[in-house]
Amino acid sequence: MINEVRKRVENYEEGRKKSEVEFTKFIEECLDEGWSPTKCSMCCVVEPDGICPHGFRSIALEYGFM
Ligand SMILES: [Zn+2]
Repeated sequence: MINEVRKRVENYEEGRKKSEVEFTKFIEECLDEGWSPTKCSMCCVVEPDGICPHGFRSIALEYGFM
């Protein structure tokens, strides 16, 4: 029973690490192209050090990629 739970936690950690790597790769690709997504609900994209008209900072800024 405990092993089962532990396995699930490990799977979760595994998945989380993978998605962090993919996220980092995605941001780096965006920065290479000279833009960054934001968390804005209007799906604004901005310059890597920019802020969208609704006040959302670029994800690159927010996560310290800049
Ligand atoms: Zn916006």
